[in-house]
Amino acid sequence: MPDTVSQPRLLLRRLHSVMAGGGKAQAKLDRVVRVIAQNMVAEVCSIYLTRAGGVLELFATEGLKEEAVHKTRMQIGEGLVGLVAERGLPLNLSEAPQHPRFVYRPETGEDIYHSFLGVPILRSGKVSGILVVQNVTPRRYRPEEVEALQTISMVMAELVSSGELVGRDELFEDASSIGNPITLDGSMLASGIGAGAAVFHQPQIHITKTIADSIKEERVRLENAIAEMRLQLENLVEHPDLAHGGEHREVLETYRMFAYDQGWQDKMHAAISLGLTADAAVDRVHQENKARMAKIRDPYLRERIGDFEDLAIRLIRIIQGDTTDHHSKLIEDSVLIARNIGPAELVEYDPQYLKAIALEEGSSTAHVTIIARAMGIPVLGRVSGLLDHVEPGEDVIVDTNSEHVYVRPADDVIDTYRETLALQEQLHAAYDAERDLPAETLDGHRVNLFMNAGLLVDLPSLDRTGAEGIGLFRTEFQFMVSPALPKVDEQTRIYTAAMKAAGDRPVVFRTLDIGGDKQVPFLPREDEENPAMGWRAIRIALDRPALLRFQLRALLYAAAGKTLHVMFPMIAEVAELRRCKAILQKEIDRLEKFDKTPPVAVKVGCMFEVPSLSWQLDSLMKEIDFLSIGTNDLMQFFFACDRSNPKLADRYDLLAPPVLAFLHMIVQTCKEAGVPVTLCGEMGGRPIEAMALVALGLERLSISPTSIGPVKRMIRSVHMEKLREFLMANLNSTEHSIRDSLLLFARDHNIKL
Ligand code: PEP
Ligand code: MG
Repeated sequence: MPDTVSQPRLLLRRLHSVMAGGGKAQAKLDRVVRVIAQNMVAEVCSIYLTRAGGVLELFATEGLKEEAVHKTRMQIGEGLVGLVAERGLPLNLSEAPQHPRFVYRPETGEDIYHSFLGVPILRSGKVSGILVVQNVTPRRYRPEEVEALQTISMVMAELVSSGELVGRDELFEDASSIGNPITLDGSMLASGIGAGAAVFHQPQIHITKTIADSIKEERVRLENAIAEMRLQLENLVEHPDLAHGGEHREVLETYRMFAYDQGWQDKMHAAISLGLTADAAVDRVHQENKARMAKIRDPYLRERIGDFEDLAIRLIRIIQGDTTDHHSKLIEDSVLIARNIGPAELVEYDPQYLKAIALEEGSSTAHVTIIARAMGIPVLGRVSGLLDHVEPGEDVIVDTNSEHVYVRPADDVIDTYRETLALQEQLHAAYDAERDLPAETLDGHRVNLFMNAGLLVDLPSLDRTGAEGIGLFRTEFQFMVSPALPKVDEQTRIYTAAMKAAGDRPVVFRTLDIGGDKQVPFLPREDEENPAMGWRAIRIALDRPALLRFQLRALLYAAAGKTLHVMFPMIAEVAELRRCKAILQKEIDRLEKFDKTPPVAVKVGCMFEVPSLSWQLDSLMKEIDFLSIGTNDLMQFFFACDRSNPKLADRYDLLAPPVLAFLHMIVQTCKEAGVPVTLCGEMGGRPIEAMALVALGLERLSISPTSIGPVKRMIRSVHMEKLREFLMANLNSTEHSIRDSLLLFARDHNIKL
């Protein structure tokens, strides 16, 4: 195929003149496959187009039997052509008939062709057809050949989109469903319920002209657009809402870094040299990047596809002169619909109207999810078929509890959700009214409610909820959103900001709990059989003490002249805690050596997450200033029950008597030793569980900001002594759970759950 690779411009021009010439679309297509086959020295060139119902139909061929045209059809996912469509990625095989997905269609006579190269014809990110070349001799097509065919497929997309070959009405997967209510499934990424009119994040980009008239002019268009894009991003990073720094800003800075990527720019210029227009070149390179990145196993790096996509679309919009301003795009309650959305794009929307986000893709570690969560916007991800089933302006309800998107919901569904939303608003108003009141029971028992945090964008919740401080600052979140290991001064900046936002309220920093399900981009991923019980948290920290030392240094710097509260995660034995304390002491001593202001006091705590500590509790008491019970981990080890396995989610109940008796023992030991004890697992944020916990004697709970209102409301409606008596009488029960009895008790005693 030397011709194609060295003369791609010539081929593109030839194709373009075929397409621009007169005649019916089918005749053009027949000529197109001939030109491609000739130029690529392929014995076969075929084009399959996508029809309604996800069927791929052979529309034109050079080399296969003529009678197969418009007869050979397959479903997406069926055979090799179906496989290309399913993945949306090129497939390059030297021995196609040996591929497990090969399906022989006798009418085509293709069994004699050994090598196969199929590339998707993509239109607005969707597969609208497949372009295939085949050769008799077994060979693997060279990367330049694959790229050349991908470029041709872009030009083909232009012809397909004219609607002359496959009618536009067929492009809808299920035309009969248009207008009817439908429910789509997804996965919860950020919890909540939101309803509003569908707003498409990207009005689908259409590249109407792929072949350049003047390469020089296209280069200038690209350069101008890149300059404009950078300017836009600079302005975004300097946006007043982001002035306080924080991960919004960090995420955007990473994103801005991509915008200056020289490799990306070079590739776009190379695509223009092939004869593409500037916007087609951006799209072409983007599709290529996407295909490459989709193969990466590392979830963090794979997530960066979204960032690149965001940038590529932004650039194409600039080239095409589209100046839509997202911020002014929302004028009523809206649900944002997108395949994916980048973090920069999200912060451009007016949060006042943005009620929920539904994505075809997305994942819980995506930057945008982390930011949406912090902004309190519900997000449902991985909603397949979303873009095909929603039209702009239609009513949409996103419910992450049921993990459903209701499109054009029926009246009864709307009514139910309206009631739920109204109720939610009423409740929020009630929580706000109690914000400055103490969490005190009817008979005067005071409970301290702290909040859990991990990102700087969580901090405004301190004032919003009236939390008494941060009982658990999960420092690893910062590391998870950062592409490189945050340096000491960067960490210091973050911890200082957290302490500043908290004012006189304490912030309990937990040292890094990475590993397990919390992977960070800069540490090699370990394949472990049981990651939750594996090389994580303090185990990594003690094996890589520099990581811990630098973090403790940053914490000490941030706490200069204040009290530092620091605790260590996943401690399994007292000796382990002692090693941590020794490292901390060295860092404290170092302050003096370097003439740095020390904290006024350093309070050291330990997370109780591993049951083995129960047998060293008395010794532990002598080593610590406070204890924090992490029931999320503790309970998975207590019951030997994986906390992230959905099959086991309802297997054991945290309101089981042995759990409560175990927690009671820990609380009692702490009380007797005069060591303050907090519970910081999710359990404490659920009112019925929290009710049992305060009755066990827990006086400090650290919970998510959204739980503070409901838990405080429950506490303020409880008569503690009666409840405690009831609970203690049930601690020795051998029932699976005492949840039902507690619920009945709450109902009979007007406890607000
Ligand atoms: C816990 O295990 O309860 C806890 C608070 O830690 P994390 O959820 O971060 O593991
Ligand atoms: Mg934990």
